[in-house]
Amino acid sequence: MGVEQLLVLDLDKIREDFPVLKRKVKGRRLVYLDNAATSQKPLPVIQAIEEFYRNYNANVHRGIHTLSEEATIAYEGAREKIAGFINARSSKEIIFTRGTTEGINLVSHSWGGSNIEGSDVMLLTEMEHHSNLVPWQLLAREKGARLEFVGIDDDGHLLEEDLEKHLSESPKLVGVTHVSNVLGTINPVKEMARRAHRNGGVVMVDAAQSVPHMPVDVQDLDCDFLAFSGHKMLGPTGIGVLYAKRHLLEEMEPFLGGGEMIREVHLREAKWKELPWKFEAGTPNVAGVIGLGAAVEYLNGLEMGRVRSHEMILTGYALEELSKFEEMKTFGPEKPEERGGVLSFNLGDIHPHDLATILDEYGIAIRSGHHCAQPLMERLGVPATSRASFYVYNTEQEVDRLVSGLREAWKVFHP
Ligand code: PMP
Repeated sequence: MGVEQLLVLDLDKIREDFPVLKRKVKGRRLVYLDNAATSQKPLPVIQAIEEFYRNYNANVHRGIHTLSEEATIAYEGAREKIAGFINARSSKEIIFTRGTTEGINLVSHSWGGSNIEGSDVMLLTEMEHHSNLVPWQLLAREKGARLEFVGIDDDGHLLEEDLEKHLSESPKLVGVTHVSNVLGTINPVKEMARRAHRNGGVVMVDAAQSVPHMPVDVQDLDCDFLAFSGHKMLGPTGIGVLYAKRHLLEEMEPFLGGGEMIREVHLREAKWKELPWKFEAGTPNVAGVIGLGAAVEYLNGLEMGRVRSHEMILTGYALEELSKFEEMKTFGPEKPEERGGVLSFNLGDIHPHDLATILDEYGIAIRSGHHCAQPLMERLGVPATSRASFYVYNTEQEVDRLVSGLREAWKVFHP
């Protein structure tokens, strides 16, 4: 292990917290490099969920019995922790959703439904995940609005001239991924928000690949909406967060109607609860919220600045090692400082699915496919890529295992 890495995170200690990392796959110790799809879960998260179901399982905000009070305190406590984690002004700006996808759909329906009209432009980028593309396509179709896109250069950066051109059309919405789940590119979200606001637009940030991996401060970014998923940041599946500026949430209509989100209901009309509950209809994912709260505490314990440094070092090392293959094509920015811990590549003529299958034989889990970014694949001129993605428990030795797995794969196809 590199000395630098030791100084950043105590990997031996961290790895002890993740039971799945002790597993063997096909007779070898698991190397899990599919973190951009979903992360593994540490014991404190697993235990917090178990503790809820064992000791105080109850619905929230309803009962006045002890269990319900305890569940409500834990649920609302997690909301406070998450608000602090991204530096929201208030926990009223934190809405629990099922994940990034639902958060963006909430915005496209509730904000878009009453703010987008036929003559409006919505500006996205060519590197968006389908989650930050399809909801806007649906809205554009419904309203007759126009979608525009910022293209990318061959290094995976947004094209400044495209951005400038389309911002001058005063888009009502600018939707951008903070970190690309394919290229790893870290987009200049703060600067984009500043320029979009100048022209009267609001900014939706897809933070699925940033909040788990680096310090994110919503006040500093000054974005209007920001969505992320619990399962990619050591938390459980089925829980996510939408951050939104309070004044926007106050003005927006509810997304889903039903129990929990109402103050009073009559046969023909209803009044909504105050924020944030106006946007949380039905029994929420209480266990998921509590698990996500535990994940945030765990990440706070590691310090997000260190998480970022660790991934940057690991990505730099992986880029260097992969570049030793003559037939290797990597995608995204060259410099690790300009990218997150996501590394897409293609090795010669080997199909990414074949590569992933062979690596699995060596106990190495990577992702292959279009990564829910088909327009980006078209732009890159490939049907698919292989992708290794790193997190807090990955080591340089695991990068070495990946590299030797790739060598073996090469031999299979070029005996
Ligand atoms: N956006 C990006 C950039 C992602 O990587 C993902 C997950 N692959 C999503 C959105 C969607 O997240 P979820 O499936 O958890 O809603």
